[in-house]
Amino acid sequence: MWGPPVRVLVVGAGISGLAAARGLSAAGHEVVVLEQAAALRLGGGAITAWYNGTAVLGDLGIDLEGMGQNLTTLCLRTPSGRQVMEVDLAALAERLGSSARVIPRGVLISSLASGLPEGTIRFGAGLAGLQDDADGVMVRTTSGREYCGDLLVGADGVYSQVRAAILGDGPATRTGLVNWQGLVPAPFDPGSVTTMMLGRRGDCGFMSAGNGLLQWFFDVPGPPADKPLEMLRRHFAGWASPVPEILDALEGQDLEPFPHTRHAVPRHWSKGRCVLLGDAAHGMPPTLAQGANQALEDVAMLVKCLDAADDPAEAVRLYSAKRRRRAVMASALASHGLALSGPRSLVQSEPVLRLASAMPPSFATWAYGRLLRSLSNRI
Ligand SMILES: Cc1cc2nc3c(=O)[nH]c(=O)nc-3n(C[C@H](O)[C@H](O)[C@H](O)COP(=O)(O)OP(=O)(O)OC[C@H]3O[C@@H](n4cnc5c(N)ncnc54)[C@H](O)[C@@H]3O)c2cc1C
Repeated sequence: MWGPPVRVLVVGAGISGLAAARGLSAAGHEVVVLEQAAALRLGGGAITAWYNGTAVLGDLGIDLEGMGQNLTTLCLRTPSGRQVMEVDLAALAERLGSSARVIPRGVLISSLASGLPEGTIRFGAGLAGLQDDADGVMVRTTSGREYCGDLLVGADGVYSQVRAAILGDGPATRTGLVNWQGLVPAPFDPGSVTTMMLGRRGDCGFMSAGNGLLQWFFDVPGPPADKPLEMLRRHFAGWASPVPEILDALEGQDLEPFPHTRHAVPRHWSKGRCVLLGDAAHGMPPTLAQGANQALEDVAMLVKCLDAADDPAEAVRLYSAKRRRRAVMASALASHGLALSGPRSLVQSEPVLRLASAMPPSFATWAYGRLLRSLSNRI
């Protein structure tokens, strides 16, 4: 019978790998995280942790109080600035028992890592090879060291080598859209409202990330431009306030492209003693802001299944069977929910969007809550 301590090797120290390490260590397992980089990646913008993600973060012992920005309202606007939908996020927080929060990526990564036992993360340890047999799993790293364990968790992101090794399926693909995003000192105060302005050829989102920082993003059709600030100014010319203010606040060096990437969710997420988690299992575009939230859901389910099963293979099979349907749905909505060319983009035209203003905020709140719950095993 399998039981703690199970020796777990986690490949990747992103949000998924660190959260898994934290959850598995707390459950009494012996965890080593192998990270190819020389240090944690603390840069980048902020992520929105929805109710499912913050519920799992709470389970992992992360104190969210005062971290980033708590959200109370979600607004959808057209490029002319007209508000067409409002969701009461504070009411949903009360109903679902957790909060929606914008958290700078570096803050989240640091707090996940800070709870780990000393020496858990090995840096400069890229995956060079893995071997899985009846006795256990063995990983060779680019630093020339070998690590043995009972279970290997592939949390190595959308271009996962663990996935390639165990499933041998095709690589992640780009959808053709590009996200430009980042954090800047806020040129105005959005309070606790997260806003998305949606048009036929692009969108712009903005929200506070706490500490006087504004998280902004633009989605446009690709490929990444050479002179992104000029491109964004041209692309969003004529859009209502605060789009011009956001563009004025940006400097060339603030602009980093993130091509929308998707990796089809495989039927099985494990083989033998190796299992996938986070973007390695279900890389999806940022449209729904669910990638990291789904990764946190994976962590909660993996810990639970390891606790319940007698055998590693059974535990990881159970884990992917329980998680797959929700991850498939999140990936499909994130991949197909935004069209910035062709006839489907008509849905995002001003006259069509205006129809949404007929929807009472109470209905929009109910529907949004239903959507988020349908993507979650946790809330
Ligand atoms: C622009 C943008 C905005 C987003 N906004 C949101 C949001 O608001 N809400 C949300 O929930 N999600 C959001 N996401 C998605 C979210 O960022 C990802 O789903 C999440 O970061 C995935 O984490 P991960 O740990 O699985 O992968 P990664 O963050 O990619 O981490 C993988 C780690 O593995 C390491 N690694 C890779 N290969 C190897 C190897 N061979 N050996 C050892 N280590 C290796 C990497 O160095 C890295 O540290 C956004 C994504 C983007 C691009």
